[in-house]
Amino acid sequence: MFKPAAADPPGSGPGRPVRPQAPDRELRQLLREIDQNRIEATVQRLAAFGTRHTLSSQTDPVRGIGAARDWLLAQFQAVAGTSGGRMTVEAQSFVQPVSPRIPAPTTITNIVATLHGQSAPNRTYVISGHYDSRVTDVMNFTSDAPGADDDASGVAVALELARLFATRPTEATIIFTAVAGEEQGLYGSAFQAKQLKAAGVDVQGMVSNDIIGSSTADDGSRNPHIVRLFADGVPPTETPAQAAVRQAVGGESDSPARQLARLVQDVAQNEETDMRVRVIYRRDRYLRGSDHISYLQQGYPGVRFTEPVEDFAHEHQDTRVENGKQFGDLVEFCDFGYITRVAKVNACVLWSLAQAPSTPRNVKIDTSMLTNQTTLLWDRGTEADLAGYEVVYRETTDPRWSQVIAVGDVTTTTIDLSKDNVFFGVRAVDRDGHHSPVAFPVPST
Ligand SMILES: [Zn+2]
Repeated sequence: MFKPAAADPPGSGPGRPVRPQAPDRELRQLLREIDQNRIEATVQRLAAFGTRHTLSSQTDPVRGIGAARDWLLAQFQAVAGTSGGRMTVEAQSFVQPVSPRIPAPTTITNIVATLHGQSAPNRTYVISGHYDSRVTDVMNFTSDAPGADDDASGVAVALELARLFATRPTEATIIFTAVAGEEQGLYGSAFQAKQLKAAGVDVQGMVSNDIIGSSTADDGSRNPHIVRLFADGVPPTETPAQAAVRQAVGGESDSPARQLARLVQDVAQNEETDMRVRVIYRRDRYLRGSDHISYLQQGYPGVRFTEPVEDFAHEHQDTRVENGKQFGDLVEFCDFGYITRVAKVNACVLWSLAQAPSTPRNVKIDTSMLTNQTTLLWDRGTEADLAGYEVVYRETTDPRWSQVIAVGDVTTTTIDLSKDNVFFGVRAVDRDGHHSPVAFPVPST
């Protein structure tokens, strides 16, 4: 009988299987305080502005995107008032010149609430929803565009989490934002991500919540405990030198966005959220996009949550009845229990990231000579509660990290496994057991 030879057969290597990170006590308390009624009230209020089209009135106090902008600004400011000065709120405005889907220079305003980190203020995580809306004709700025699912649902999650995080100090900074101009071409988030890049902000994770309002598919079936997470592979900012390394030894599924997606599964699939995160290894759905792409284009790891099966009769549609069927993005099609569970998933992600150490920096795999072992090197982080590092690895054909080896508070280690046969990564761990996203090593030579 033929038996294939394998020096390091799966499951025979050092370490233990990777296990999920359970929510800590503070996080469990926060999860219990997520308020479905507040989420519903936010979606109802946003839908009641009639339209929130980016080209709609900015001065009408009742109808249009200007009224929605002012209401959101006031909501986030009220939340910041409970933060003891740790949260600041900004209306981030700029004029978008004439561009595709922008026929005249138009002021676009993002609402940005920044919860400043207590010990690592430059290290930043971002959660967004977009508050602009649309109907069938993307240039129609007068018809009713309630945008309940797309994307009052995402804005409601960002606002509810801002409320609960505001009273809880975090190590790193979290930005809770409601952006505009998404439907016209991601203009608000593009400006926002560029501003952060220009300011040298170390964004280590960005999560767009866009169309997270319904668990009901177009055929009427329900998937109330699944959320999709789209995670890009090769970063759009990859340099020719990085491409050459990837083409030689792989890594096309080890971008920072994919490592972020793996962390989301690690920290957010549990009894508290009652959710499964279905990670999809592509940037977004066919013909569609969202604000995480703006962050990817600045070299930041951005990923996108969206509901499990969309009903396209309820998105980007004129509100109407046709042959007895209701079309339109109406509040009545939202599932607020579902949105609340997606909020819990996001809370697990943001809390775990903001309380964990930084993703390890300058991680290298020693390629100075040919060996059947693996030596990894990295820079030590500066966090006061840093406990040490873990090496993770997996078969090259596996989608997720499978084994973890605790290596202690060191900056180099040698593992008795061939770097030719598996993929390795390094993550940092603090004294409370919070672990960072994994850093994928680059060759040392
Ligand atoms: Zn959207």
